[in-house]
Amino acid sequence: MFLESTKACCPYCGELIEFLFEPLDSEQEYFEDCQVCCQPILIKITPNDSAENIIFNCFRADETG
Ligand SMILES: [Zn+2]
Repeated sequence: MFLESTKACCPYCGELIEFLFEPLDSEQEYFEDCQVCCQPILIKITPNDSAENIIFNCFRADETG
């Protein structure tokens, strides 16, 4: 097992933070607390045809729907 890292802006405080995730073959959805403001960020990871093309998205927990 190895972890990928990517940088994205926190949807709450706007800080650029680094996320670590496991590149799996299936779609993943989970919460991770922001390292800066500690708010729960909804992480969505969608695999593409190759591990280098994983689509990483983050949302506010209260922004669903
Ligand atoms: Zn934040």
